[in-house]
Order: sequence, then structure tokens, then C-alpha cells
Amino acid sequence: MERRKFLKTAGLGAAAVGLASAGCKLSVSSKDAPAIHTKTYEWKMVTSWMPHFPILGEGADKFAADVSTMTGGKLKIKVFGGGELVPALESFDAVSMGVAEMGHAAAYYWAGKAPAAQFFTSLPFGMNTRQTYTWLYEGGGLDLWRELYSHFNIIPFPCGNTGAQTGGWYNREIKTVNDLKGLKIRMPGIGGKVIGEAGATAILSPGGEIYTNLERGVIDATEWIGPYHDYLMGFHKIAKYYYYPGWHEPTGVLELFVNKTAYESLPEEIQKIIAVAADAANFNILAMFEAKNSEYLTKMKSEGVDIRKFPEDVLIILRQLSEKVISKIAATDAFSARVLDSYNLFRKNSVEWEKTQEG
Ligand code: CA
Repeated sequence: MERRKFLKTAGLGAAAVGLASAGCKLSVSSKDAPAIHTKTYEWKMVTSWMPHFPILGEGADKFAADVSTMTGGKLKIKVFGGGELVPALESFDAVSMGVAEMGHAAAYYWAGKAPAAQFFTSLPFGMNTRQTYTWLYEGGGLDLWRELYSHFNIIPFPCGNTGAQTGGWYNREIKTVNDLKGLKIRMPGIGGKVIGEAGATAILSPGGEIYTNLERGVIDATEWIGPYHDYLMGFHKIAKYYYYPGWHEPTGVLELFVNKTAYESLPEEIQKIIAVAADAANFNILAMFEAKNSEYLTKMKSEGVDIRKFPEDVLIILRQLSEKVISKIAATDAFSARVLDSYNLFRKNSVEWEKTQEG
């Protein structure tokens, strides 16, 4: 009874508040009305993707279109593929210097400028997509990311996700970790350092050169993204085995990075639209990846691609090597140590809930 009474009262209260605010609104004089911003902005977004690249470039295009629609055309964003305005891996500098107002890429590309940046994309054997987002938004991760990028006059926003990636394409069967020895494997980032510890050589082939390099034996193996993009690359035609899991990239956070001065020059409502459009892109881009990867994994299976799981013993050793490599980064870079502490603490506290959810 008490509860029902409470709900009834609360309902009346809400209605009363609603009426009061409506009345208040009517009494506002025109001089108190919020300013209506009529100024329009034309911005450039530089990306690390080939123009309109499936999902990644398309996601950037959709983000720009969404912002234009939501601002009623007040902020128009022209999206440039890698190399169209600046080279793909110079987009961060371009935004930092204000050559472009915003960019779309992945933070681990900037590890050479700030080692801690790579912790915001993915860590080998690290947290999955759901855990990583929770750490970023609710566990202090994004605050650290913003602190790190503030030194470059940039504000980062998580803006899309590849989901878990796959392990990659091999012509040699991987039965023990010794089978990795001597292989030249295309693998960027911390994963590349890990396979280096395992006796392989990490090679950094740009996307456009991987197929030819694998076909000609310049590299023996490659990771790329997931079933959809890997199929489009045609790796199944020139490699024998497709391995999983993508231990080196259990998630793949994409980023929108905005020149801080340019962002702060915008009216508050447009700032908010950018932030909310980036939030929406996290879901939209992830959903596109999940849908296409499901479809193309099934397609590969029906076409007889030899899909295998890395043996458990191999994964155990790679995990140990990953911990060693990550600790080494934290030992030589103070900000990385702070980020890793935050990451590990969040992970430790969320383990029980994660186990409970997944059964
Ligand atoms: Ca990858």
C-alpha cells in the first residue's frame, strides 16, 4: 500500500514539476532566451583508412553524415581517406597542429609519440570489448586517455570497435610455440613484440602490400582484422590455415580525435552532438563488424577454409610473454604505468561479475 501511495505521489509530483517548468518557460522574456547559433562550420576529418574502406571508412562517413544531420547542417565534416590530405599515419599530427579539425584512427598507431596510447585500443590477452568500454567510460580509462592527449591539444572519443579480431593466416601448422620460431609475421603493436619474444620476426606491412608479400614469401604469416576483411583481402587463396583466437587484439577500440582549440570554439550543443555521435558510432560500427564477421566466417567454412584454434599450450606461453612485454612498457614509461594500474585494477574488480554474466 505504502509503495503504491508513493508511486502515485511521485507521479503527481513529476506532473506538477512539468507544469511548473512549462509555465516558467512561457514567462521567459526574449532577452533571456538562449542564443541561437547560426554560424556554420566546415571541418576536415583525416582518417587512417583507405577512402570509404569497408566498415572503418564507412563508419567515419556515417559519423560525419550524422553530425551534419543533427546540427541541421551547421557542422559539415569532409572525410579524407589516408593519403588524400595527409598520409594515413600522419593524421594525429595533422589534428594536433590544426591542419584538420578531427581524425579517425586507432590510438595504438601513436605509440611512438606516447607509449600509453596503445593501452586504449587493445592489449594482448586483455579485456574484451564490453569490459574495455566499461573501463573507459566508468572505470577512469577515458579520463586518462584525455589527460594523455591533452599534451597534443587533442580530445579523444572512443568511436567504433572492430570487436575481437582473429589470429591470422599461416602456411605452417602451429603445434607448439617453437613452430613460430623463424617466421616472419605481419603483426603490428604489442602483439608484434610478443611474437618477437617467441622467436618470430614482426613485420609491418601496410594493408595494401600484405597480399603480395604473403604470396611472394616476403612474410610467412599475417594477421589482419576478422573474417569479413580477411576474406575481401583473399588470404584464403594463398594461406593454408586460418587461426583463432586473435589473442593479440581481443577488442579494437577506434578513436575520434578532435583538435581541442577547434572543439572549444564550437557552441555547446554542437560539442555535445559530436560526443553523442561518437557514442552512437561505438555501437553502429561494432554491430557492422559483428554482423559481417558472422556472415563471412560461415562463408569461409562452407568454402572449406581450414580454420583452427591455436593449441592451449601455445596460448599459455604467448600470454606469459604478453605480460612480460606489457610490464616492460610500464617500467619504462610512467604514464603507461598509471594506465596499466587503472586497467588491471578495473579488470580485477570486474572478474567476478564477468564470470557471473557468462556463466
Ligand atoms: Ca589486426
